[in-house]
Amino acid sequence: MTQKVKSVLILGGTTEATALIKSLSNNRQVKIILSLAGATKTPILPEHIMVRIGGFGGIEGLSQWLIQHAIDILIDATHPFAAQITHNAWQAAQKTKTAFLRINRPAWQACESDCWHPVANMAQAAQALGENPLRVFLTIGRKDIFPFKECPIRHEYWIRSVDRPPEVLLPVNAKTIQARGPFDEASEIQFLQTHHIDRLVTKNSGGQATIAKLIAARKLGIPVVMVQRPETESMPMVQTWLEAFEWLFKH
Ligand code: NAP
Repeated sequence: MTQKVKSVLILGGTTEATALIKSLSNNRQVKIILSLAGATKTPILPEHIMVRIGGFGGIEGLSQWLIQHAIDILIDATHPFAAQITHNAWQAAQKTKTAFLRINRPAWQACESDCWHPVANMAQAAQALGENPLRVFLTIGRKDIFPFKECPIRHEYWIRSVDRPPEVLLPVNAKTIQARGPFDEASEIQFLQTHHIDRLVTKNSGGQATIAKLIAARKLGIPVVMVQRPETESMPMVQTWLEAFEWLFKH
């Protein structure tokens, strides 16, 4: 008896989504559709895979999309800080009775020699820089930088993101760097030293692609303001794309 080909929608924008799609690209048991938010101007798109770009229109829009496209399995492989789409995906999956799995990579953990200052959000991160002007390396993406513009202390910023942040969000003393990971330790050390960086501000994204800056900060004794992950509700979850791959074929 021939097995039914399963339609799988993967919510992406991460290295996990890319790796999972690559591992499935020649598999005839599944038909993969990748969904991207459209947040990055020039996304790296997989070959030979159907890709849709843009929001669905909340839980209702996503639920309808799942039904209209006869999706059997929904995999949320979005970034750990993309809390809205994860909430929507889990709700829509329950509503439409679509099999669901979230890939949530483990958070980075500080080791003894790290000097991390954990904060709950970007406003707290800006406050945590203190009263004296510092030279700050911001690696928080381009959308969340406004609290640093509002900060009354004139820190100097180096802001690294894939796309340049909108001008209106930029603090006065900001230089922008457009770059896409992965980054290596030697170049991160060189960057921190060249610009005499006093503080690194980052989200606790986890993963290997951008961990080098934390190792570099540790080696140079630079304190890190670490924005903690948003809370998410309990849902079916794994930590790696490989676990998701194995789960897919048990379904
Ligand atoms: P978010 O706040 O959770 O989502 C905002 C809205 O964007 C969602 O409600 C949804 O719109 C749409 N959306 C998000 N991801 C989508 C996807 N994969 N496919 C279709 N629509 C999507 O997300 P975000 O923090 O802005 O992140 C946007 C995307 O960038 C995510 O896919 C994420 O994987 C990627 N990313 C985010 C970060 C980060 O730090 N946040 C870092 C790296 C990559 P509708 O409600 O209209 O459906």
